[in-house]
Amino acid sequence: MNIRVMRGNKRETFLPFAKPSIGEDEIAEVVDSLRSGWITTGPKVKKFETEFAQYLNTDNAIAVNSCTGGLHIALAALGIGPGDEVILPTLTFCSTANVVVLLGAIPVLVDVGNDFNILPESIESSITSQTKAIIVVHYGGQSCDLSEIYEIAAKHDLPVIEDAAHAVGSSYKDRNIGSDDLDELVNGVKRVTVFSFYAIKNMTTGEGGMITTSNGSLANRMRRLSLHGMSRDAWKRYQKAGSWYYEVVAAGFKYNMTDIQAAMGIHQLRKLEGFIQRRQMYAAMYDEVFTNLEAIEPPVRLPDRNHVFHLYEIKLNLDQLGMDRDMFIEEFRKLNIGTSVHFIPVHFHPFYRDKYGYKSGMLPNAERLFDQIVSLPLYPAMSEEDVYTVIDVMDHVINHK
Ligand SMILES: *Cc1c(COP(=O)(O)O)cnc(C)c1O
Repeated sequence: MNIRVMRGNKRETFLPFAKPSIGEDEIAEVVDSLRSGWITTGPKVKKFETEFAQYLNTDNAIAVNSCTGGLHIALAALGIGPGDEVILPTLTFCSTANVVVLLGAIPVLVDVGNDFNILPESIESSITSQTKAIIVVHYGGQSCDLSEIYEIAAKHDLPVIEDAAHAVGSSYKDRNIGSDDLDELVNGVKRVTVFSFYAIKNMTTGEGGMITTSNGSLANRMRRLSLHGMSRDAWKRYQKAGSWYYEVVAAGFKYNMTDIQAAMGIHQLRKLEGFIQRRQMYAAMYDEVFTNLEAIEPPVRLPDRNHVFHLYEIKLNLDQLGMDRDMFIEEFRKLNIGTSVHFIPVHFHPFYRDKYGYKSGMLPNAERLFDQIVSLPLYPAMSEEDVYTVIDVMDHVINHK
């Protein structure tokens, strides 16, 4: 593939960094919910949970109103509370850490590798007698080294929570992320996986999330916590055969998904494989050209994984490039291409610096990466022409045309 010469032409319109793919099926299903009279948690949420569980192969799927809420109740159901330490990577969205803080526990931020995923050896060296859980993030849609992480968890008898906000449809050693099949890798690890259906994630319900686990009793606890800690959900209560009676068995949250959200989710799930194929095709188009450029590095691809490319994160070789990350992003913006950065390391945010005493230099890989990383547009609503345009702009910017 040749880089086609752009001769400084700007796109007429701005290509946004990300955009959802919503079709007529989703629209019709949402309208059907609105007309049906049942708009909150009901039959469509049940259907979405059942189909999602079948897709991944898990016994338990619990729909929630965000991945953040799902992570919060996963930790709560595992009994995480004041003074407990929870290990997680610093290169993640703030909510992965915020939920730990909200339970009174201490977020122990650790470094990541060149693939942007948490470093297993940093997990192990951060474990203390106070450590009560490990959260990993499948960054960009490419799985962490789960065999190694589960080994560490099993050795120290710790549960693993997988923030799979980027990773719906992804796999590790031919087992779906969030699937009960992953139990085969290492025996006896308590595992919870949480997905996000935020507007620009690989599939969307506007806002929403799903929790999966092979552990039935943990699933029951999480389901209760998702709706006020009530022993029965409202939908069941208001069925003809149901009853008005319920019991509150925990001080729970209000994190249930609505049927309006599930209406979208049911159709997004059916389209997911197609969305992923398109993302992978566009990633391959980028890779083919970018592998030959000195000024940037395409994302690292690891064996035994199906990378679903929620993000296409490049690293800038700053010496080669002769400009910094912010200038690079500004050049793209001037040529009408939106980009982003994933993520500002959590330990750089004022709250985490001030409350926990994090300083520059403590997590050197993530800090070095932060200066170098840029996420390029990559989503199914882009055309192939759009991908070529981004490639043209790359040529233009790195050659200072
Ligand atoms: C988007 C995201 C979340 C939060 O998902 P919501 O559904 O918006 O709560 C959590 N972790 C990571 C890594 C994310 O990218």
